[in-house]
This record gives sequence, structure tokens and C-alpha cells, in this order.
Amino acid sequence: MRRLLVAGAVVLAGLTGVAIGQENYPTKPVTVVVPFAAGGPTDTVTRLIAEPMSKTLGQQIVVQNVAGAGGTLAAGQVARAQPDGYTILMHHIGMSTAPTLYKNLPYDPLKDLATIGLVTEVPMTIIARKDFEPGTMEELVQYVKDHKDQVTYANAGIGAASHLCGLLLMKEIGVEVTTVPYQGTGPALTDLVGGQVDFMCDQTTNTTGQIKSGEVKAYAVTTGERLQSLPDLPTAAEAGLPGFEVSVWHGLYAPAGTPEPILEKLSAALKDALKDENVVKRFAELGTAPVSEDLATPAAHTERLTSQIELWRPIIQEAGVSAQ
Ligand code: ASP
Repeated sequence: MRRLLVAGAVVLAGLTGVAIGQENYPTKPVTVVVPFAAGGPTDTVTRLIAEPMSKTLGQQIVVQNVAGAGGTLAAGQVARAQPDGYTILMHHIGMSTAPTLYKNLPYDPLKDLATIGLVTEVPMTIIARKDFEPGTMEELVQYVKDHKDQVTYANAGIGAASHLCGLLLMKEIGVEVTTVPYQGTGPALTDLVGGQVDFMCDQTTNTTGQIKSGEVKAYAVTTGERLQSLPDLPTAAEAGLPGFEVSVWHGLYAPAGTPEPILEKLSAALKDALKDENVVKRFAELGTAPVSEDLATPAAHTERLTSQIELWRPIIQEAGVSAQ
């Protein structure tokens, strides 16, 4: 009887501890894992929203870059982390392509991770080193066809947005070129500016500055409309690739099993961050915008992830690409 009582007290104390923990959450800094190197788009978006999110949460947000394997290394790490709200993940469209691309993906995006909310949808740009011979998109297509054995395309690994854009582009052009994988857009862009690789396709968040300063050559933006931030840059359709549209959505995740109230607190902090004046202004300068409030929720994010996994599966299968 005594033992039973003691056991009951322990269970009760444990439950109360959990409830109190959720109520007071967060009581220490929250780590947000970025699945690519520092200085790239996912890193930029994360750092921009981290500050206002930490204001709402009343705790510091620490950004940790865990690059590798097209973002799957970090996603696996967060999927296995304690589901207590202190380790979360920022990822992008790659979350929806990895299940088809990776044969031995060590996590299931829909089962092992919980969604917090969508953040932003970023256009991409097709760019090259500044002295790359082709001057227009039409010339680029012809040049790549004529020099397919020499040209090099930089990306941030299999499943990265830059990899997907390259896949679609090569499908359009009808050739395959040598791809050079990096740990993220940060180091890839450094090499493009330095002339070590020929061309790439990446988010405006990290190409706008280099395009405007002339450090890289830009051919087209991958949206249906031109961007206010880069008004002279034609859309891919205007530049001769009708229907070539791709943008990169970003979202926040926590390990599956994270208590609902914690996910709600994180989603609320995200919504606040997306209304923050500096975030709205900087996003606009970088060619993007925060998603509407109804998309910064676990439910809307799960819906997007589910439909995107379905959307990308046949495209990737048809392209015949895969990773280990
Ligand atoms: N933009 C990169 C990609 O191609 C990753 C990054 O550095 O954010 O997915």
C-alpha cells in the first residue's frame, strides 16, 4: 500500500512537472537547426524571424547550422531530438522531396516531425558567374546544349532547392550537366562569385544583393510575374521557358510528440514575427514576403507538406534521380 502510494505520488509529480513545464515554456533558449551552411537563404530567413520570435517567447533563439545531405542530416537530428520545444527545425521545400529522393531516409517527415507553420515562399533566380559567355536566357539554353560536357552547375546537395531548380531546368533544356554540390548556398555563391563554377539557380533572399552589385549575371526569375525588387529581370516565361515556375516554401518543425500547447506557442510567436516591421521590410527587399497568418499554423503547414510530397514524387521519379 505504502509503495503504491509512493509510486502514485511519483506519477503525479511527474505529470505536474510536464504540465508546469508546458505552461512556463520556454524557460531556457530554444535552438533552431538550419539544415544548410550559414550565409544561405534558409539561414537568412531563420535569422530574420528569430529575433522577433524570441521577443514573443521571452527567450533567446540560438541558430545552429547542421549542413549535409541536402538538409536531411539536420531533419533527422531534429526528428530524434527531445520533443520538448527546445530543439526545432527550419526547413524548406526539400522536406517534401527527400522521401522520394532518399532511399534510406532515416525519418518520415509526416510521422517523425510536427509542423509549426509556414514562413515564406521565395522566388528563385537563374544566375551565373559574371563573365559567363551567354548574355540572355535564350543564349544560356543554347550554350548549355552546345557545351554540356564543360559547364558546371552549383547546388546545395541532393534535395536542395537549387538541385530541384537545376533538375527542372535540365529537363527543359534536354541535357545533363556536371553538378557541383555544396553544403549550402552560402559557399556555393562564394564560388560562383569567384568564378569556380558556371551557373546556378537559387533563392532571391541571397542572390538579390549580388545581382544588383553585378557580382553575378542574372538571366531570369522563376515566378509568373516580375519582382519589384528586381524589376529588370525577365520571368523565365518571358525569357523563353514558358511554364517554368518554381518557388521555395520554408516552414518550422518540431520533433513529433512535442506537446500541442508548445506547438501553439511557437506558431503564435511565428505569426508575430511575420508581422514584424523589419521582417516585412527585409523580406520585400529580398524579393519575398511573409505568408498570411492562416498559413503560419501547424494544420496549414501539414496540408502543404502532404500535397507537396505528392506533387514532387512523380517529377523526381520521372527524372530518375535518387540518393542513398
Ligand atoms: N538555397 C539552398 C538550397 O538550394 C539552401 C540554403 O543554403 O538555404 O536549397
